[in-house]
Amino acid sequence: MKAEIIAVGTELLLGQIVNTNAQFLSQELATLGIDVYFQTVVGDNLIRLQESIQLASERADIIVFTGGIGPTQDDLTKEALAAFLGRELHIDRISMDLVEDFFNKRGAHMTENNRRQALVIEGSSPLTNSTGLAVGIALSHEGKHYIVLPGPPKEMAPMFVEQAKPWLLQHAITNEMPIYSTMLKFAGIGESALEERLIDLIQNQTDPTIAPYAKEGEVTIRISTKANTEQDAMIKLDVLEEQIRSILPNHVYANKDISIERAIVDLMTERKLTLSAAESCTGGLLMERITSIPGSSTVFLGGIVCYSNQLKEKLLNVPHDLLEGDGAPGAVSAEVAEVLAEQVRMIGDTDFGLSITGVAGPDYSERKPVGLVYIAIAERGKDTEVLELRLSGNRESIRMRTVKSLLYRLWL
Ligand code: ATP
Ligand code: MG
Repeated sequence: MKAEIIAVGTELLLGQIVNTNAQFLSQELATLGIDVYFQTVVGDNLIRLQESIQLASERADIIVFTGGIGPTQDDLTKEALAAFLGRELHIDRISMDLVEDFFNKRGAHMTENNRRQALVIEGSSPLTNSTGLAVGIALSHEGKHYIVLPGPPKEMAPMFVEQAKPWLLQHAITNEMPIYSTMLKFAGIGESALEERLIDLIQNQTDPTIAPYAKEGEVTIRISTKANTEQDAMIKLDVLEEQIRSILPNHVYANKDISIERAIVDLMTERKLTLSAAESCTGGLLMERITSIPGSSTVFLGGIVCYSNQLKEKLLNVPHDLLEGDGAPGAVSAEVAEVLAEQVRMIGDTDFGLSITGVAGPDYSERKPVGLVYIAIAERGKDTEVLELRLSGNRESIRMRTVKSLLYRLWL
């Protein structure tokens, strides 16, 4: 089964909103085993909308519309589809009652326009809107299946999941096997290194398939397979996951879509471990990411943002001669990172003390280049680990990648 998604709305073409509905629908259709071949975006224009429908009906079996079913004159999706199919539009009584009820309850005046939201195409199944007013449509015509959904994501998503999906399963998809996938999230390895280590597996693997991708310094692999039941799929996916884990021991931090900070907080909660931090050039970014995780307070006890040398000295006991004076290593140095991590760990009496000191740019400091960063991890009863990073990019990306590197290192 081939599907096409048609997102309707001039705002999409103007770049005012992002087509997140297409993303959502593509993911949902994939889980049903339906291959999405095209995603189309078309403005609120009757002629061009009809052209899109014409084209889609030639190349897809299932066509899913989103947007353009509201009360205003620029909402034309149902009109265009009805005209294309040569069918009439009429008011769906149940949907109309819901619209009237909505206005009555609020004591608001219902304009004639609002009746449009209850329009359905003759011979179709109305899809009720549990979070809005406009009714959706599902219908089959000459072997093709059409689904019309609202534009607002909070209306579109529940309508798809609660109504369109069961309709598709009953009317359109008879013997397609759904796709199941697992996301493997990696710490402490880059995309190219990962591909290199897995190259044989990637090239020879056909079922399940392996798709690596990277964004913002995060590396993820999606492994997918088609199967009749989730259980059958999990058996195949688990085997491949184990193979990948054995090639890259320790690097997989999760087999679901969670952040590294989430994984760390979960693990440390389970092991009853605690954490504190001293941050210089990241100004609290690390602490922000950790504390954004609900439940982090049992793990993360606190920290210090010590931008200036004075604060490094007074609050975290960094010896003056490490920071300043002839031949001193300076604030951006392995020595200072080490003291910061050890001191904050001791002061906070935590199992781990983390520290960051570096040059985030745009200007160099202490004659050190932009992107030179030292991170340290002090662990109770162990030698402190200090890492030198040489990052490129602007201030924001250096800061962000420093935090990620530290979190990944902590995981390993
Ligand atoms: P309404 O009753 O709100 O008019 P509608 O079904 O006519 O709903 P549109 O008018 O096309 O939908 O879009 C309404 C809003 O829904 C848009 O302003 C936008 O915020 C959101 N929206 C529409 N299409 C998309 C899309 N493809 N992806 C994400 N958001 C969308
Ligand atoms: Mg609208």
